[in-house]
Amino acid sequence: MIISKSDLLHFFENVKTDFDIFIPYASELDEDNLSYKKFSDNKEFIINKYRTIDPIKTLFYLPIESVLPASAKKMKRIIVGVKNCDLLALEVLDSALLEDNFVEPNYKIWRDNTYIISSDCTDALSSCHCVLLDYPPYPEKSEDGTCIYDLNLSPVNDNFLITIGSKKGDELLELIKKYCSVRDASYEEKNKIEAQHAEIRKKLSDINSDYSPDRKYDVISDNKDEATWKELSAECVECGGCTNICPTCYCIILNDESENGNFKKIRTWDSCQLSGYARVAGGDSPRPKLWERFRHRYQTKFIRINNSFSKLGCTGCGRCISTCPAGIDLREVIQSLQEV
Ligand code: SF4
Ligand code: SF4
Repeated sequence: MIISKSDLLHFFENVKTDFDIFIPYASELDEDNLSYKKFSDNKEFIINKYRTIDPIKTLFYLPIESVLPASAKKMKRIIVGVKNCDLLALEVLDSALLEDNFVEPNYKIWRDNTYIISSDCTDALSSCHCVLLDYPPYPEKSEDGTCIYDLNLSPVNDNFLITIGSKKGDELLELIKKYCSVRDASYEEKNKIEAQHAEIRKKLSDINSDYSPDRKYDVISDNKDEATWKELSAECVECGGCTNICPTCYCIILNDESENGNFKKIRTWDSCQLSGYARVAGGDSPRPKLWERFRHRYQTKFIRINNSFSKLGCTGCGRCISTCPAGIDLREVIQSLQEV
């Protein structure tokens, strides 16, 4: 189905009181920096060409939330312009936070009440490297036809091709049709989208041409050499930025608080890169040395999460690379380990 950009905008304007709508907007200081904000008809509506600065978890697993009582709002939401690296991250979070024997209450409320409209990447940042992990820069359904997005938008000329990903997507499209006209995609439009997919994949391969796509992650667990990890982590200043910005990191700390005499359990993001992480009574820590914490992050991303959920804990979004004040590039760390 094809919808025009102006019709899609018209739809958002008409339903903005029924839904909280989040759309990536460019920062006023730097138009290349995009972040999710509430939909506003006063701002220019764009469908983002690449990922936002903020990971999708900021809208589903907030930096600080009360889990008892659960503080998530049940207002219906639509999040627009979610990229494949963030959809893949939501798959990891779903595996960790919606398991049968452990359901995180806020995460479930946010997930159940949100429609996700994803979109293809049409450009890339220098840190983007999904293709090195064999992930495409646009969403694809799995072999059994399931996927995380409800609707996906592929830009074509001044229009979008809408692909339905779920039952919720069917419902949302029916609602869109009440306000706008949609039509079948032409053969030329479908061909153009395929050509755009090939083009963006090539761009990402070119950006990452210094790195081997043949990634042997066993090197991360096999390499126990203290000197290697010390050298790789030498510039790390333990800020925790790489874990906070990562769309798949979900470690937290829980605190008991009281408000007006009422008990509250507050959940706050934590970081395995900080020296106080997992410290126990008496001050003991499982990983007291910086290089051990640094290695732990790589082992978790590429080995442990994969062992638990059969998917990598890295989606190639590149946010940790853009964020690190020490200039540590995850691609270079893995490449160095492969070359040791
Ligand atoms: S480890 Fe880095 S590149 Fe991988 S998903 Fe996390 S922030 Fe993105
Ligand atoms: S962002 Fe860089 S400096 Fe900060 S903890 Fe992560 S690796 Fe270390």
